[in-house]
Amino acid sequence: MNKKRVYSGIRATGRLHLGNYFGAVKGMLALQDNYDCIFSVVDLHTITVPYDSSKLQSSIREIIIDYLAAGLDPKKCHLEIQSKVLGHVELAYLLSTIYPVSRLEDLPTYKDKKAQYPKYINMGLLYYPVLMASDVLLYKGELVPVGIDQEPHLEVMREIARKFNSMFGHTFPEPQRFKTDGDYVPSLSGGGKMSKSIVGSYINLTDDIETIRTRLALAPTDSGKIGGEVPKEGGVANLFSLLRLFKLDSQYKKFEQDYMNKNIHYAELKEVLTQGIYKELKPFQERRKIFEEDSNLVDSIIEEGRLKCIKIAQETMVEVRKKMGLS
Ligand code: ADP
Repeated sequence: MNKKRVYSGIRATGRLHLGNYFGAVKGMLALQDNYDCIFSVVDLHTITVPYDSSKLQSSIREIIIDYLAAGLDPKKCHLEIQSKVLGHVELAYLLSTIYPVSRLEDLPTYKDKKAQYPKYINMGLLYYPVLMASDVLLYKGELVPVGIDQEPHLEVMREIARKFNSMFGHTFPEPQRFKTDGDYVPSLSGGGKMSKSIVGSYINLTDDIETIRTRLALAPTDSGKIGGEVPKEGGVANLFSLLRLFKLDSQYKKFEQDYMNKNIHYAELKEVLTQGIYKELKPFQERRKIFEEDSNLVDSIIEEGRLKCIKIAQETMVEVRKKMGLS
């Protein structure tokens, strides 16, 4: 029996952080044993926000190395660099012809990006969900391990698949999000989500213990109140949710009790978190060194992934062109 296909990608906008790890990479790791997986560095999405072209190639490679160090195994899954498989762009154009502009303009992710980069509102940004739909549909992906922030894009993807199927005959599955426990990791700065593009919001997987300590030291804790239930949002809530994500359950209970008894020491909580986070990241950092030092191995993994992905993509594109009357 054919295994279900899984597809997910991460932008090359910086080093992977805890949000990417819990929201996406943990899901990829959980699926690679039993599904036919393709995991990508989505460089064409990366260039929709301001970026440094002279650093893009090295950023792409760092994400591939992060994937490998996190435990993605090229014997079980294929690693892809999006722009190396031209089918993504061709399929995105074809799908854009059946999808309304107004729906894209209304998406919260597009509005957020417009607010974040008011001087960099480009067509690519508007097009992002269509390209993302083509990323997954090019491989007829059924499961997509991504954070909850991507749910609106998944909805667009399903709408596009449905519309295409109804216009041209059944071709695409309707992809579903694969959910992880940490599908929304909050920002360290107190509000919003942890993101590579928001300074002060993240802890990177490559951070050493001192860096983790410093980043946590800067995280706000003054919620204006103390005692009673632990708050549901804000800096204090975020620290507690990190305790949960790192399975520091007995410490969670202790600090919860301290909070209710109005004698919580945030420096103590932050130190517990620092140690807990570093303990989980250390094996990743050690494995990372192996791949950093073996560039031939990394090159051959990238090439193998490219050849495999191009083959699958070509099959879909032959079918799509034929169904749309283009061949
Ligand atoms: P970023 O916003 O940091 O640039 P990307 O847009 O490249 O990250 O997202 C890569 C993957 O990581 C996506 O699956 C996204 O849903 C997930 N992700 C990003 N930030 C978080 C977060 N704070 N919590 C959970 N998942 C996240």
